[in-house]
Amino acid sequence: MFDELLARNDEIEFIAVFGGMAFLFLIEAGVPRRIAENSQTQRWLNNISLALLNYYLTAMLSFQFAVIALYFQPEMPFLKHVELPVAVTVLLTILVADGVNYWLHRAFHQFPILWRVHVVHHTDTEFDVTTANRHHPLELMITMLVTLPVAVFLGAPIIAVIIYTYLSILVNLLSHANISLPNWLDRVLRLLIVTPDFHRMHHSSYHQYTESNYGTISPWFDYLFGTATGLAYDQLPNMQLGLDRYRRKVDGRLDRLLTLPFTYRR
Ligand SMILES: [Zn+2]
Repeated sequence: MFDELLARNDEIEFIAVFGGMAFLFLIEAGVPRRIAENSQTQRWLNNISLALLNYYLTAMLSFQFAVIALYFQPEMPFLKHVELPVAVTVLLTILVADGVNYWLHRAFHQFPILWRVHVVHHTDTEFDVTTANRHHPLELMITMLVTLPVAVFLGAPIIAVIIYTYLSILVNLLSHANISLPNWLDRVLRLLIVTPDFHRMHHSSYHQYTESNYGTISPWFDYLFGTATGLAYDQLPNMQLGLDRYRRKVDGRLDRLLTLPFTYRR
């Protein structure tokens, strides 16, 4: 049963990414947090095209990356050395991977060469579930190159990798969703996971807010390392999103997004 599911992982991942996106898209239509002034159809099509391209690229490359990872597998990975209960290894894997992604995200903002790649995500002038997978394919490849060796040296069991993968897919979609959660619910949820109101601050046009709320699954690393902006939605309801220099419709076109790392000017 488990092996069968594993063999069909690509299909299941497709359903999780695009089914989750469609589900949240419907909720956004019912209870939106922000109402966009212009039609979003073109923006949605460009973002979804990039998401599809990224999905197929990841599906194509994950096998190659897995082969390389197995080749370099250490004799005694950390988790196999200490022998912990499965639940603990799963939690540890999620925590370590989330921590690595937090620092990687900070690096994408800190180093100009990495920012050129990550900027594709930040030029979106609106914030909804289609923003979630609006990443340049190079960003995905860099992320895989960094996180895979960590999983290998940690010795994370396959079940932990799978749980982490699907958790990050779902929280990533939810944290970008343009849905109106009651403030009390957002306050409770953000103790555990990154909520839309928490992550939207990171997409602000105001530099001080863009340089905060880097977390992917949990906001704990932002709290721990002092990069959390804990404003509630009502405190800045009309905050501008995106980057000042990239606000034209043409800037969101698929070909422009794919070439942006090479054409980007501050
Ligand atoms: Zn960012």
